[in-house]
Amino acid sequence: MFELTKAGERTYYIDHSTIIGIYKLTDKEVCLIDTGRSRRDGEQLEALLKEQGWELSFILNTHTHIDHLGGNEYLMKTYGCPAYATNIDNAFANYKHLEVSYMYGGFPNQMLRNIFRHPGPVGFRDIEDFQLPQGLEYIRLPGHSFGMIGIKTSDNVWFLGDSVLNQKSLEKYQFGYLVDVAGYLETLELLKTLEGGLFLPSHGDITADIRPLAEGNQKNIEKNICGILEDCREGIHFDALLKRIFDRYGIRGDMPQYALSGSTLRCYLSYMEDQGLVAAYFEDNMLKWKNVG
Ligand SMILES: [Zn+2]
Repeated sequence: MFELTKAGERTYYIDHSTIIGIYKLTDKEVCLIDTGRSRRDGEQLEALLKEQGWELSFILNTHTHIDHLGGNEYLMKTYGCPAYATNIDNAFANYKHLEVSYMYGGFPNQMLRNIFRHPGPVGFRDIEDFQLPQGLEYIRLPGHSFGMIGIKTSDNVWFLGDSVLNQKSLEKYQFGYLVDVAGYLETLELLKTLEGGLFLPSHGDITADIRPLAEGNQKNIEKNICGILEDCREGIHFDALLKRIFDRYGIRGDMPQYALSGSTLRCYLSYMEDQGLVAAYFEDNMLKWKNVG
């Protein structure tokens, strides 16, 4: 059973595999911020709402990664309510295999399609077309996904999606998934300027001061870049470079990790090439990367 924690007069959250937010629009009506990983999470949310005597008006998704929108389809059908995310993130949510095709760099095999399957065309709407009710606002936090947003409630509570890795990840798994290094860094800089009483990153480390975690994440990206630069000193093939990433961060290489970490590594290389730190070249018809910084 989900446990409800009060974060403000009208704001609650559930500390699940990803944080789920609840905001009271009126005495009876609420909206959700993200819905967990699975249909089962949607069913548990329904049970909790019933127990509280609350009706669900709509769902806001910080971004459309599958561990955040698992309960959407079930809840949309059960309550006949809309669910929103940004237009660009919805491109992935509305098509089952588009995101994994992006990650993998081509149409992926059955295993990857199953693991990273999105809900498909269940009617996600664009948040850009939605006038949020008084008490709620959002800002763009791109980098981890193309269109991620943070949502602020009238209680000065911020739901920050996956804009930061938590402290545990900074120590154990530093090569977090992202789609745009420059965007990610700008988002971290933006986080440091946000005013609020409580900040809730989706994977934990709830805090009254987000700056230390944002700075920790900035340093982590810099460290990752330094590691890649070191690995590119001699000129290296992409797959050999990815092996070094797996080895350094203790990742067991498999197809899902090849897609996730491989896609993330490509994003780092794009950024580093744009910054003039590495260059791509062909040797024996094979693409290689070299440190030119
Ligand atoms: Zn995510």
